[in-house]
Amino acid sequence: MFATHLRCRDCQAQYDLKMMYACPKCGGLLEVEYDQANLLNPEHILHPDSDFYGLWKFHRMLPLKDTKNIVSLGEGDTPILRADRISQTWELPIDLYLKAEMLNPSGSFKDRPSTMAVSMAKELGHKAVVVASSGNASAAVASYAARAGIQCIVFIPKSTDPGKIVQAQSYGAKVFAVDGTFSDAYDMSMKCAVEYDFPNCTSTYVNPYTVEANKTVAYEIFYQLKGNVPDYITVPIGTGPLLAGTFKGFEELLAMGLITKLPKMIGVQAQQCMPIVRAFTDGSPVLAWQEPIHTIAGGIADPLDGYTKDGETTLKVIDLCSGAMVSLTEEEIKKSTDAVEQLIGLYSEPTGAVSVGAVEKLFHENVIPAGSSVVCLVTGHGFKFTKRSFSSPSVIHTLTDLTF
Ligand SMILES: *Cc1c(COP(=O)(O)O)cnc(C)c1O
Ligand SMILES: [Zn+2]
Repeated sequence: MFATHLRCRDCQAQYDLKMMYACPKCGGLLEVEYDQANLLNPEHILHPDSDFYGLWKFHRMLPLKDTKNIVSLGEGDTPILRADRISQTWELPIDLYLKAEMLNPSGSFKDRPSTMAVSMAKELGHKAVVVASSGNASAAVASYAARAGIQCIVFIPKSTDPGKIVQAQSYGAKVFAVDGTFSDAYDMSMKCAVEYDFPNCTSTYVNPYTVEANKTVAYEIFYQLKGNVPDYITVPIGTGPLLAGTFKGFEELLAMGLITKLPKMIGVQAQQCMPIVRAFTDGSPVLAWQEPIHTIAGGIADPLDGYTKDGETTLKVIDLCSGAMVSLTEEEIKKSTDAVEQLIGLYSEPTGAVSVGAVEKLFHENVIPAGSSVVCLVTGHGFKFTKRSFSSPSVIHTLTDLTF
């Protein structure tokens, strides 16, 4: 509502609020800028608009001009749950919380950027949207497109979990598989968006509006922890807009005088595909990930091939908040998923649970000290992960067959 223009993150050039993906002058990523004096009014947070569900209660903090263009399914307002059984079982002297982002309507946090992107597409008068996705974003964008009566064209890597393809198709989206990684699907989505002038709703930094919706994670944490800012927030990272958007939300709360410190953000990747972790650890520029990728955390397996700038943007945020990046092995990802399911009772896709395993790893590496408070964003639903192994239940005939 108080958005004024788009600004290039590199050369600072300004543009009108329309659908743009890169600075025509320098190729830099674009960010939404606001009339700060009006935006940073604590009333927008302390008295959100109760005419709307979930994250749209905070519509005054978001770039949409007119609330009649909101395309919503009730996303946001996901619970924060204490995770004492995990901290006890793993012997972590840490105040541990999970934010259950898989409880969004399409089953992942991607509903936040997608409700924003499709609402913007509607406001700008578009009749179709495109999205490249490793799965969750396609399901999310497809669901909001259905809600809006807008056509949705999806590009996915061929290896995408059928659970996610089925979901996007069920909402009526046209799904195309690309023979390659997420980066190849992304490349195709960009060509299609430019050729046909359909907004690209991919939830990298490419669509400047999507990342704004992730600010609402910060507003919700502010409420749910009664104004106490956690010391750390751990986030599964593909390119990093969830992490960057969440941090931006806390920066706004700080500028409003509602909080007095910022959290340290921790980005988590799978060792099988960790271009941003590698750059963080080596202190080197972000390079596209060229090695083969075999991970159960498909939702964050983003090689950044062709858009390493996105990784640099995320690293800038990590730097700014003195945060960290960490990667998990496949075994550690499995252990994290089991913990979320068996010690909390939330069904989680492996991608979504890496934020939890990261806490144990960073505690033992002396990055997260004892006594810290940590919120782990658990980002995707277990229903979407169909490649699970399971044991066939034993067949019984009478109660005397039972063993437990
Ligand atoms: C897309 C996705 C992420 C990564 O989000 P980014 O904002 O791209 O870093 C994390 N978890 C799940 C389940 C996802 O689908
Ligand atoms: Zn520029």
